[in-house]
Amino acid sequence: MSEFDFNDERDRKRFYRSSNWLKLRQEVLKRDHFECIECAKKEGTVTTTEDATLEVDHIEEIKTRPDLALDIDNLRTLC
Ligand SMILES: [Zn+2]
Repeated sequence: MSEFDFNDERDRKRFYRSSNWLKLRQEVLKRDHFECIECAKKEGTVTTTEDATLEVDHIEEIKTRPDLALDIDNLRTLC
C-alpha cells in the first residue's frame, strides 16, 4: 500500500474513502455476520443490523503495518 502514507492524516482519510477499502470493509462485516466480535464473544450471538454502528478495525495498526492495511486477516468488526 505504498500509495498511502498512513502517518499522514489526509492520506488515511483518502484510504478510508478508497473503493478497495470500502469493498474489503463490506467483506469483513459479512464475514463477521455484521456483529461486533467482542460483544459476540462476551454475550454469545448478538444480532445486529447493517445499520448498527460497526467499525472495521485493524488489529495491527496501519501506521505500524501498512502492508496489512488490506489484509482481511488483520481486520475485525467492533462496535
Ligand atoms: Zn461490541
